[in-house]
Amino acid sequence: METNIKNYYQLSQIEIDKIKRDGKRPTLALHACCAPCSTFPLEFLTPIFEVTILYSNPNIYPKDEYLKRLNELKKYITIFNSNNNQNVKLIEFEYDNEKYNEVFYHYYNQEEGQQRCQMCYRLRMDRAYKFANENHFDYFTTVMTISRQKNSQILNQIGKELSSKYSTKYFYSDFKKKKGIDRSQELRKEYRLYNQLYCGCKISYEKFLIKQSKVNCSK
Ligand code: SF4
Repeated sequence: METNIKNYYQLSQIEIDKIKRDGKRPTLALHACCAPCSTFPLEFLTPIFEVTILYSNPNIYPKDEYLKRLNELKKYITIFNSNNNQNVKLIEFEYDNEKYNEVFYHYYNQEEGQQRCQMCYRLRMDRAYKFANENHFDYFTTVMTISRQKNSQILNQIGKELSSKYSTKYFYSDFKKKKGIDRSQELRKEYRLYNQLYCGCKISYEKFLIKQSKVNCSK
């Protein structure tokens, strides 16, 4: 992977300016993991793009949590479309969490953000990107650059690497910049969106439970 730091927010603005000059409204497939992380990206992208959300998240465990996040996202899209006169659609991918765990559970001892997480980003993005390419979307990107816990440099580098396989263009982003993160929190509170307490996979869930039990024991 490249190590030089890039300003991906600036790159997103350069691409948007180019699209505006061309006077087009391209299609964009947006990989999304949950409602709170989709709030600001939708506000940022829909004035420029015809957006379709791809819910490609086999990592999320247990299934109840997967469905909770999915249903909250569906609820938010309905609100967003109605408030903004938009027509954002959602496509749900197969929930093959068992297969996901067969590979990822071996990395239990790694801290969040390390190799396991980078592989997880890549897997989810690649599945969604492949779909975007097969369905002739103009652009593909992920909402994950909104998260404080996720490194935008790594996410964009993964996007760039994946783009070499596909015709669909990768849209660089850093949604947390220029107060994007503040706006997402504002919208989350305004619409009382369910805010998950752990990242998503079985490992992050179990580590969260252990942490919780330690907190409860010390009370
Ligand atoms: S902690 Fe989050 S990003 Fe890392 S592997 Fe688990 S679900 Fe994926």
